[in-house]
Amino acid sequence: MIDPQDIHAARQRIAGQVRQTPVDQSESLTQICGRPVFLKLEHRQITGAFKLRGASNAIALLDETARERGVAAASTGNHGRALAYAARRAGVRAVIAMSALVPMNKVRAIAALGAEVRIVGRSQDDAQEEIDRLVVEEGLTPVPPFDHPHVIAGQGTIGLEMLDQVPEAETVLVPLSGGGLAAGIACALKDARPGIRIVGLSMARGAAMAASLDAGRPVAVEELPTLADSLGGGVGLSNRYSFAMVRDLVDEVILLSEAEIAAGIRHAYAQEREIVEGAAAVGIAALLAGRLPAGGPVVALLSGRNIDMGLHARIVAGADALEEAA
Ligand SMILES: *Cc1c(COP(=O)(O)O)cnc(C)c1O
Repeated sequence: MIDPQDIHAARQRIAGQVRQTPVDQSESLTQICGRPVFLKLEHRQITGAFKLRGASNAIALLDETARERGVAAASTGNHGRALAYAARRAGVRAVIAMSALVPMNKVRAIAALGAEVRIVGRSQDDAQEEIDRLVVEEGLTPVPPFDHPHVIAGQGTIGLEMLDQVPEAETVLVPLSGGGLAAGIACALKDARPGIRIVGLSMARGAAMAASLDAGRPVAVEELPTLADSLGGGVGLSNRYSFAMVRDLVDEVILLSEAEIAAGIRHAYAQEREIVEGAAAVGIAALLAGRLPAGGPVVALLSGRNIDMGLHARIVAGADALEEAA
């Protein structure tokens, strides 16, 4: 498992490569909820999401041979962007594989960051097979999006910043998919404050980690369209780190409807003047929907802002959340 010291070391290692993102107290949510509500504005991270922390830590920890050969991942989203960006800055080759069904704008965004993009097959599994092949045939190092100690330690640096920025926090709300983010943050926070409460938040449609926690082991669930698209995908049936850490360290998981997530995006924009993607709106969504037990100061993590701006405009204008997700 990951030691809290690994997270402190990661913070030193990636300082200067990632932004220390600000925290703001939300006046509107503090008033609505009757308790101090703080927002950790991690959607303002370079590349638009927190995944740069884990990717930067993983790249900094490559040995010399691995550095010369390069890194690889199957990802269309925030992890692919982060790995491409961190690799280019370190002068390391990055290959990102994705299926032919991925929209051209996503392909271009990752290619523009300097990665070699491989279009293979028609599913995420096909893209992953290509990565497995490159690892064997070309000696590339796979950097997975969540189930890796260096990635988890990098994401955990957010927890250390929260301790400095909101020492009075009693509850922390963390978006939850594969669980690298929640595992790292919970490890950092519970080491310093064992009594702090960590709440994981996912969409009700296709929440693989929640189903796995219920089953007591990693299970697959059907992936469904959702506004929180960055929270889609499985936890990996041979998960080694993030599942056990989430099981042991996260106190509660709350599942949100598409309408609740849409309300979170809308509130972030209209009241906080922040543009966030669905995955990042789940904390605000849970607070607005009254889904948390009463208590003291709470911090909600806004994890990313990479949402299609046409979709964002429609959600803000009050479009039907379920139709927009599809
Ligand atoms: C990846 C991602 C998450 C979930 O992180 P996990 O480590 O997979 O749980 C949440 N929000 C955004 C914006 C992401 O890109």
